[in-house]
Amino acid sequence: MKVPYARIDCSGNEAKYIAEVLDSGWLTTASKAKDLEDRISQYIGADFCLAVNSCTSAMHLALDALGVERGAKVFVPSLTFTATAEVVRYLGAHPVLLDVDLSTNAISTDILKEAIEQHPDVETLIVVHFGGLAAPMTVSDGEGILDICNNSGIKIVEDAAHALPAQTNDAFVGTFGDITCFSFYANKTMTTGEGGMVSTNNPVYATRMKQMRLHGIDRDVWNRFTSDSNSWEYDVIAPGFKYNMADLNAAVGLAQFERLEAMHDRRVACARWYFEALASATNLQLPHQPDVLASHAWHLYPIRLNDRCNKSRNELIESLAQRGIGTSVHYKPIHRLTYYAEKYGLDAVDFPNSEKIWQTSLSLPIYNLLSDEDLEFVCANLIELTA
Ligand SMILES: *Cc1c(COP(=O)(O)O)cnc(C)c1O
Repeated sequence: MKVPYARIDCSGNEAKYIAEVLDSGWLTTASKAKDLEDRISQYIGADFCLAVNSCTSAMHLALDALGVERGAKVFVPSLTFTATAEVVRYLGAHPVLLDVDLSTNAISTDILKEAIEQHPDVETLIVVHFGGLAAPMTVSDGEGILDICNNSGIKIVEDAAHALPAQTNDAFVGTFGDITCFSFYANKTMTTGEGGMVSTNNPVYATRMKQMRLHGIDRDVWNRFTSDSNSWEYDVIAPGFKYNMADLNAAVGLAQFERLEAMHDRRVACARWYFEALASATNLQLPHQPDVLASHAWHLYPIRLNDRCNKSRNELIESLAQRGIGTSVHYKPIHRLTYYAEKYGLDAVDFPNSEKIWQTSLSLPIYNLLSDEDLEFVCANLIELTA
């Protein structure tokens, strides 16, 4: 039996919609990309959504739209994928790394408040909704991340690469911060192969990102090719980027989006299964469980080995692999990556929780194609190997 870490399900209308694009004779950005934008903005309840070619591009556009300048400082959690920090460097700004909370793997309001006291000159925060668990943007009692940032004049970009669909306080991630960035990379909760989406309720940011997405051209290039009017002329307002999403990719995304809720339902069921089946595994620390399990996107199911376990994390990964079970690790923290460690003289002792998570955690398979038998097999082996 084999249970790979990830498997992508393209069993819906993917091939049909791709064929439509091929038949249309126009393969790059057009009506399919626009359709995907409209559907997602309607679904999450954001005023503007723009389809782009990756979440990394989305975050670059977002920081540009917020006016992050060379030499500026941006809060970034240390426990994230390298893209979250690298986009800050694209603009010549500097990431100020934050440690994360041991239970949620994300920044907490306490960590953020302390960081603002220590670094009053930071004007931007990138929040990562780790694994698909929405960070506490708003809370029903007291201050959430939004309140704290509003009070300190800090703008928020959300790295929601894991967080479609995720909710907190009854609203979807994508409607809280100034700008939110989603990923449709191959193994994310829905895919376009490569792709991403940026959402905002701010029309000024939306206009800027729309222009910068395509070379800084001052108007819609799709209109340029479809309008009957004499529309060859355009102007350029800034040296923009080439970040648009092709309709070939959007075709896959539309088919995936049709099944987003069904795929999410199954991931929630997988998470529920793990919580129940692994409750008795005393050497495993299970992930933070939100009150409503379905408010979590469940892109990742990260567990940690506690100190009493007779195996190291690496040994466990190896043993599971020998039995045909794929796992992964999220993440080698930014402060451990040579470029950032050397450039900023970073020291692991300043990030104790990120360190602990990175050294003891592994992520279990969680996707809609997992069968009950797959889940039983993973759990039985985990319990046996960590007993
Ligand atoms: C996947 C991922 C990204 C990058 O997404 P791309 O679409 O591949 O650019 C950024 N941040 C996090 C946390 C991710 O997991």
